[in-house]
Amino acid sequence: MSAARADLVVVGSGIVGLGAAYAAARRGMSVIVVDRTETPVGSTVRNFGHLCIGAQTGVARRYGDISRELWLRLAADAGFWLRESGTLVAARHDDELAVLETAADDAQTDVRMLDAAELLRRAPLRRGDIVGGALIEPDLQVNPREAAGAIVRHLASLGVDFRTRTAVTGVSTGRVETTRGTIHAGMVVVAVNHDIDQLLPDIAERSGIVRCALDMMRVAAADLPVPLDAPLLTGWSLVRYGRFAGLPETSALRGRLYAERPDLAALDLNQMYTQLPDGSLILGDSHAKAVQPGPFQPEAAFEAFLDEARALFAVDRFHVLERWQGVYASGPGEFLDERPAEGILALAATTGIGMTCGLGLAETALSAHLQEAFT
Ligand SMILES: Cc1cc2nc3c(=O)[nH]c(=O)nc-3n(C[C@H](O)[C@H](O)[C@H](O)COP(=O)(O)OP(=O)(O)OC[C@H]3O[C@@H](n4cnc5c(N)ncnc54)[C@H](O)[C@@H]3O)c2cc1C
Repeated sequence: MSAARADLVVVGSGIVGLGAAYAAARRGMSVIVVDRTETPVGSTVRNFGHLCIGAQTGVARRYGDISRELWLRLAADAGFWLRESGTLVAARHDDELAVLETAADDAQTDVRMLDAAELLRRAPLRRGDIVGGALIEPDLQVNPREAAGAIVRHLASLGVDFRTRTAVTGVSTGRVETTRGTIHAGMVVVAVNHDIDQLLPDIAERSGIVRCALDMMRVAAADLPVPLDAPLLTGWSLVRYGRFAGLPETSALRGRLYAERPDLAALDLNQMYTQLPDGSLILGDSHAKAVQPGPFQPEAAFEAFLDEARALFAVDRFHVLERWQGVYASGPGEFLDERPAEGILALAATTGIGMTCGLGLAETALSAHLQEAFT
């Protein structure tokens, strides 16, 4: 191993680890990123690429806003696809419209109501079913399959040293033990997502972190009458995201959805879609939480994704291109931001909003830590 010393050693090259490396490199620090895989293959490449900033509240919104600026800068500098699309929300029932209207009435809001005609111009939805919708204005979309790789190449060009196919077996103040030897570190960021229970089991147990496994699917969508202008959410998303989930109107919506479709409720469905630049459509997703979710993906979830997509879009048949499982850290709070020992930060998004908030989480945590260290 060449120079095994850096101001910052980052464990994990997903979006949170890359965010920490980017924050440190911009401050002139030397950085080594260690990952056990050759290229990023974790949650950061398995998701929708939906940066749902306007659907967050509180700390998540703050991290989302910081992430937004960082994503825009990184996309320009690293040269990857990003669109300032906002997010479309399709309402098929008055109770969904009521939730959106309350959110749009909020003086602080960046949710704008759309009538059915405008929504149909922007998304290939079946006419007749749509009663209206909304646009969540600040949201962005990236292609998760290319963004992390482009950020790695960009950071490498800034001097960040990537040590891949190298597993970290232990961290302590000033030292990172790996399968290729010891690296000495001024500071360590552990950003290993759900595998925090393997590297820092005490922190994982104390913080109640388990795994959340999601089924996902990609279909060809050449037959769509118009492209999907932006990530698309449905009523099933409104009952999940912070901005909408706590509104008084949402409990009636949740009650109806769960009563009408216990099968989808049992999958813990978030019915949403993004269209990739090649035209294919990502469909998802289901959620199953456990310390160690099983590796087997019941077909029922995929059948539900296809049935629901056929009902929503003006297409009768989809050709399935891929199915996969993604896993993220899940805990009682939205984020893990712990200091297990001096000079070590353990960071994770623990509600499946790491693409939206991960860069902001890493930027904020690193900046706070450096400020403390030098004052
Ligand atoms: C299916 C799915 C859909 C999602 N959709 C969205 C979305 O649309 N919007 C959104 O905001 N968020 C979404 N998320 C959540 C988001 O993708 C994650 O929160 C985020 O990518 C987590 O980033 P990370 O860097 O923590 O983890 P990861 O990307 O998983 O990276 C962790 C890295 O750590 C490495 N590692 C682990 N242990 C070690 C070790 N001991 N030594 C060395 N390396 C190690 C792994 O190899 C991996 O590369 C989704 C997640 C999934 C799974």
